[in-house]
Amino acid sequence: MSDDTAPADATYNRVMLKISGEALMGDQGYGLHPPTIARIAREVQSVHDMGVEICMVIGGGNVFRGLSGAAQGMERTTADYMGMLATVMNALAMQSALEELGVFTRVISAIRMDEVAEPYIRRRAVRHLEKKRVCIFAAGTGNPYFTTDTAATLRANEMACEAIFMGKNGVDGIYDKDPAEHDDAVRFDEITYDEVLTKRLRVMDASAIALARDNNLPLIVFPLDEPGGFKGILAGKGTYTKVV
Ligand code: UDP
Repeated sequence: MSDDTAPADATYNRVMLKISGEALMGDQGYGLHPPTIARIAREVQSVHDMGVEICMVIGGGNVFRGLSGAAQGMERTTADYMGMLATVMNALAMQSALEELGVFTRVISAIRMDEVAEPYIRRRAVRHLEKKRVCIFAAGTGNPYFTTDTAATLRANEMACEAIFMGKNGVDGIYDKDPAEHDDAVRFDEITYDEVLTKRLRVMDASAIALARDNNLPLIVFPLDEPGGFKGILAGKGTYTKVV
């Protein structure tokens, strides 16, 4: 994109927002909670209003995870495809919430389902971003044995995003130990991908970390449940951990 389209008050021009499926379920413990989805959509809208080009990947753990299916005796690849289909439902819910706010979107699926979502064609997706449409990438990578963290990292690389923003509930970054269990847990302001791996910090799975690290893609872990948090960080404020 050319410099004259760069947003004046944002630190990044094009970003990937990754949220887990569980972020959409509110306090229900399962499924989709429309008021929660609407709240997240407003956060996305506020960043979109800054002129930032936004990609999104939403997990599927609020509906189905391949590993839990496999643990109950289901064939693993079938269970993973079910997990990928769950992400499509979440993507459609987010599309609906964003368009309710007047933000144009495209749901782009890694598994063809042309009546429901566009197929993934890289150049077409880039064009949508240039036209300021929020691109919601659904169905993960389209392959079993992966996670939506890997999908977010893969698409962020392909779309030339400048960073991945990982929105979390109830936590404002990466800690040396679980802050919910340890009062003396310390948050990192900045940490390297190699340290994340050696310290075994549970941030993303190892393949996603390797893909981000090897392509110099920074990861910003921030609190998604803090109103205005996403926009604040894009404007260079707030509490978060940056992984480089
Ligand atoms: N999945 C997959 N390949 C992918 C992405 C996802 O097989 O490229 C499946 C996998 O079974 C996973 C499920 O989709 O458990 C939901 O994704 P994920 O667990 O990453 O969701 P989150 O934990 O972010 O809600």
